[in-house]
Amino acid sequence: MLLGTSLPTLQFPDVPLPLYDEALLCSDTAAIYENDSRNAVASVATKFATVNAPTTGPSPEQLASKINQVDLTLPLGSTADSLAELDDLYLNDAVYFHDTKYAAHLNCPVVIPAVVAENFVTSINTSMDTFDQSAGATLIERKLVNFTAELIGYDPVQADGIFTSGGTQSNLQAMLIARNTATAKLQGSLPERLANLRIYCSEDAHFSIRNAAMLLGLGYDAAVAIPTDAQHRMDAHALRTRIVEDVQGGLVPMAISATSGTTDFGAIDPLPELRQIANEFDAWFHVDAAYGCGLLLSERHRHRLDGIEQADSVTVDYHKSFFQPIGSSALLVKSASSFESIAHYAEYLNPAAEAAATPNQVSKSLQTTRRFDALKLWVTLRSLGAARLGAMFDQVIALAEDAQQEVAMRSQLHLVTDVQLSTLVFAFEDPEHPLTLSEHNAVANQIRQRLYSSGEAMIAATTIKGKRLLKLTLLNPNTTLSDVSEILDAICRIGTQILAELTTGEK
Ligand SMILES: *Cc1c(COP(=O)(O)O)cnc(C)c1O
Repeated sequence: MLLGTSLPTLQFPDVPLPLYDEALLCSDTAAIYENDSRNAVASVATKFATVNAPTTGPSPEQLASKINQVDLTLPLGSTADSLAELDDLYLNDAVYFHDTKYAAHLNCPVVIPAVVAENFVTSINTSMDTFDQSAGATLIERKLVNFTAELIGYDPVQADGIFTSGGTQSNLQAMLIARNTATAKLQGSLPERLANLRIYCSEDAHFSIRNAAMLLGLGYDAAVAIPTDAQHRMDAHALRTRIVEDVQGGLVPMAISATSGTTDFGAIDPLPELRQIANEFDAWFHVDAAYGCGLLLSERHRHRLDGIEQADSVTVDYHKSFFQPIGSSALLVKSASSFESIAHYAEYLNPAAEAAATPNQVSKSLQTTRRFDALKLWVTLRSLGAARLGAMFDQVIALAEDAQQEVAMRSQLHLVTDVQLSTLVFAFEDPEHPLTLSEHNAVANQIRQRLYSSGEAMIAATTIKGKRLLKLTLLNPNTTLSDVSEILDAICRIGTQILAELTTGEK
């Protein structure tokens, strides 16, 4: 017998119904759309003109008390009013990545052409799954994929790619293709074949690789973390030794996932050596260049990615080092045929019979309905050009190199390893105040928290071998050495204060 179930009756308060003919964007409402958009832009522009700190340092509780008060069943009745309400709810306490004292995560300030292009993306609301929902948009995306493939050094005729929501999705898709490639070569039941697959990445690789192993049914432990050298690059010798051992134990090396620009240290794994090992064991060779992809545009530093052209697949996050708004990312593959193992054809959408004749991107994507994010990069390249973006990335690399001296000058700060891309990871340790590891870690967390609460600056933290470290991620070409120097001074000042409190026992 079925249990009697029913949805609760709707209980909306008695408010006048909105005018639907004014709510929907259409020919008749173009003027309303224009007016509301101008207001929205004006309110953001006003905010940008006055922001002078990355944050006001709100706590989750402070924000929750405001946001929870809003009654979503009681509309304000106009776009202008709901935007005005956002000043207090969101804009005033938002985190501003463009502020030169923002040095926390891998968030870049964004170029204006890309931001403005967003208006087209959302308003026209093209969906990228099929040509019949996107028309020129599909061809624009494909041209950008070719452009990126050429930057990587792929043969653009052979190569292909797809825009994704971010590096996490790109890495998942790369590992999916690698898994399908590996299982096609094996015998036995599918569970048996999956159980033996291994993915090799460095212990500094992004967690999305390990997560992909889990999502793909391989289990977390299928992602093997290989030790790194003093610069946090994957140790090729250790990799080879581990694979030999695993193969002897009956395991199958499915993929080697190299990182070009690790999230913490910006380390670039030795691509040519890793490619060779992948060849030797018939493994897929993926390069996660979510962060390091900006080097592709840099005349001065491009050579650091030598070997990337030999990768079977590459993750690029334009929203990290091409100064694009979120989301803007892609997965590139050396050979277009790599997408065949993941292609699906739905009669209602992209029938197989039409596959050859119609450029439908959905068969290459993990998403179905998909935003036209590619347009932001298109308008950027047409407005500013690739060289300009490359020069901007060069600028942050140079800044990070100079900043290294600034850290070295301060006796309380100890850099963990040389700067490699645009991050600095260091410990706050006062030679006069030796601490236990747990005290040290508590102080590091306190420094970061107090800096945030003060709104003075935002920095990140990471943990290496149990030790809490402070991290600056520099991705803003407007940030100067004196900005960095002020952040470092603030860290030393707050750290010294916390140590003094520890000594006197006060709070
Ligand atoms: C940021 C990052 C990712 C994840 O990318 P998202 O765009 O945040 O999903 C993957 N790999 C590396 C090396 C990263 O730095």
